[in-house]
Amino acid sequence: MNDIKPLILIVDDTLTNIDLLSDVLKNEYRLGIAMNGIKALEFVNKNQPDLILLDIMMPEMDGFEVCRRLKIDHATRDIPVIFITAMTDKNHVAKGFELGGVDYVTKPFHALEVKARVKTHLLLKNQLAMSARIFESSLDGIVVSDSDTVIQMVNPAVTLISGYSAAELIGQKTNFLKSNRHGDEFYRKMWKSINETGRWSGEIWNRRKNGEIYPQWLAISSFRDLWGKVSNYVGVFHDMTTIKRQEDELKYQARHDALTSLPNRTFFQYRLQDSLTYSLRHGEMLAILFLDLDNFKHINDSMGHTTGDSLLQEISQRLLFCIGESGVVSRLGGDEFGILLEDVGNEENAVKTAGRINETMAQPFHFKTHDFFLTVSIGITFFPNDGKDAETLLKNGDMAMFRAKESGGNSYQIFTSAMDKEVARRLSLEANLRRAIEQEELRVFYQPKVDLQSGRIVSMEALVRWQSEDGIVSPAEFIPLAEKTGLIIPLGKWVLRAAALQTKKWRDEGYDLRVAVNLSPRQFQEENLLEMIDEILEETGLTPQGLELEITEGVVMANEENAIDLMSKMADKGLFLAMDDFGTGYSSLYYLKQFPINTLKIDKSFVDNIPSDDENVAITSAIISMAKSLGLEVVAEGVETGKQLDFLREQGCDEMQGYYFSPPVPTGDFSLMLAENKSLSF
Ligand code: C2E
Ligand code: MG
Ligand code: MG
Repeated sequence: MNDIKPLILIVDDTLTNIDLLSDVLKNEYRLGIAMNGIKALEFVNKNQPDLILLDIMMPEMDGFEVCRRLKIDHATRDIPVIFITAMTDKNHVAKGFELGGVDYVTKPFHALEVKARVKTHLLLKNQLAMSARIFESSLDGIVVSDSDTVIQMVNPAVTLISGYSAAELIGQKTNFLKSNRHGDEFYRKMWKSINETGRWSGEIWNRRKNGEIYPQWLAISSFRDLWGKVSNYVGVFHDMTTIKRQEDELKYQARHDALTSLPNRTFFQYRLQDSLTYSLRHGEMLAILFLDLDNFKHINDSMGHTTGDSLLQEISQRLLFCIGESGVVSRLGGDEFGILLEDVGNEENAVKTAGRINETMAQPFHFKTHDFFLTVSIGITFFPNDGKDAETLLKNGDMAMFRAKESGGNSYQIFTSAMDKEVARRLSLEANLRRAIEQEELRVFYQPKVDLQSGRIVSMEALVRWQSEDGIVSPAEFIPLAEKTGLIIPLGKWVLRAAALQTKKWRDEGYDLRVAVNLSPRQFQEENLLEMIDEILEETGLTPQGLELEITEGVVMANEENAIDLMSKMADKGLFLAMDDFGTGYSSLYYLKQFPINTLKIDKSFVDNIPSDDENVAITSAIISMAKSLGLEVVAEGVETGKQLDFLREQGCDEMQGYYFSPPVPTGDFSLMLAENKSLSF
């Protein structure tokens, strides 16, 4: 238990009075005694009593003088003083209160009455101390002004927030603190609310002593005295600088991409919406460029995400550089960027911008020891010509971009309404293809590969055909679609199984044949590709030596290390590997040497028009001789004439494949060819 008791000072020059008072008070209070005014003041200064019982008539210094001195001293003026005196004159009573006494008791007094009054005044004092404590320790700033808004009191928090000391503020009008951020109308409304409802609260910008303006949340209420007159205004506020900063930060984060700091998709759509409204009103033309990086996924997967991230940052810098002030660059997600060109004037300008972007991106990206080459596909669409709303325009841009990508990437395409129909066709094609896989509308055709020494069929390429209701659909059309939608996985597996099964049959019939099956990039990325191949070989009974896998340069280059690893495993199993469409990519023969490839297939485009096309003649013969020196077999694709054949044979090409000997044919026709022992005659 805490046994601290309030300290009461009894000041009287008569011992009997002192005894009387002591008797009733001593149990509940600690007591101090002073027999004259001087002693009383000494005691007060030393001991800070909680209350003083003060006699008036004393020699040397009377009680009034003691009280007057207490009240002018800051340290003692809040100590409640109760006068106890034999002077019953009303003027004296009044004077006692005027001097700041809280109560006045006349002698002869009733001791219990004095005790009750002491208690009441101590409680009041306690309450005041409590209010003062709240005022002092509040973290919110509190400003009390009079009815003319002249500041009378401020708490320490005000000094902390505003930088002004209490002394600098007291006596100033409250608008001393204001910033120039709000107009007269703001303050007029504020005062209207205070006058009508007695309160106002809201966000307001004020100025600190150092000149900085800052937001605060301020609640003002008017204080009416007991006579109903407004005597004071009390303003309570907290500094919102930090909250505001966090709010701004959050707002920024919600609207920007963390990696590149570019506006994100959400913000881009807002901006687009705004621009559409504006452009519509002013009859202006607007262009949207939709960008997608070509092959970014491969770089990201093979080089690691840190490099991928740095690349994206560099790309966004280049885009900002290309666009400058003339538009908004945004990262829509992943490797997609959107550009908004406001008031673009004419289509020509948008096309120029797209061309500039393609050029800028073509510059190599340097990271650590690597140089990366990256290209972008850009779709361009215009408001108001191609669409009236943000959603349609973005969809159009995407569609046009897809077109640019399909045509090989590193280019731009302008949206045309034909693309819209194209997309509809594509969607129905996709649905149909799904069904085709399920309902086995797919067939495998075989195209023979013929040995240029013996003239005999030594192997064949399995080429998928889709016998749809509307006739045969070319794989050149649906393979890219299957690749994009992921349907290539079940489709590829189906082709592999069918080809392996059929080849096993032919081998069992005594034909020493190897079947070549195409592997798409997407399949090559499937984690369980090797297991899938093993499974099919086991299921069909085909030996690995009976299977050749055709892959393209893109597959290898996109993910070099992984590709070497995977291909080595395939080679270890005894599978054959062929590089398809060789010459259409960028890789050199020497570069390819690090991959365990058995065969090179020279792309049809180089075989075309030989021997009359000098350039193709040069390229083809160079490829053949280099391949030979590296110990690779060479197959020429798309051989259509006897002249081509003769030339290839002279150059030492090993095999040919092409319409000159046979187009891809159904199983039955291929069996017939075998049975007839069809061969090339030279
Ligand atoms: P590819 O692997 O380069 O196949 C060779 C393509 O050239 C085949 O077209 C074939 O019919 C065609 N061709 C062969 N000889 C000649 C000729 O003398 N003249 C002309 N003009 N063309 C000739 P196809 O069957 O339309 O296949 C196109 C592409 O589709 C293939 O190119 C291959 O990349 C892909 N593909 C076909 N079937 C499959 C498959 O089952 N899986 C995967 N992943 N891709 C496939
Ligand atoms: Mg092929
Ligand atoms: Mg090919």
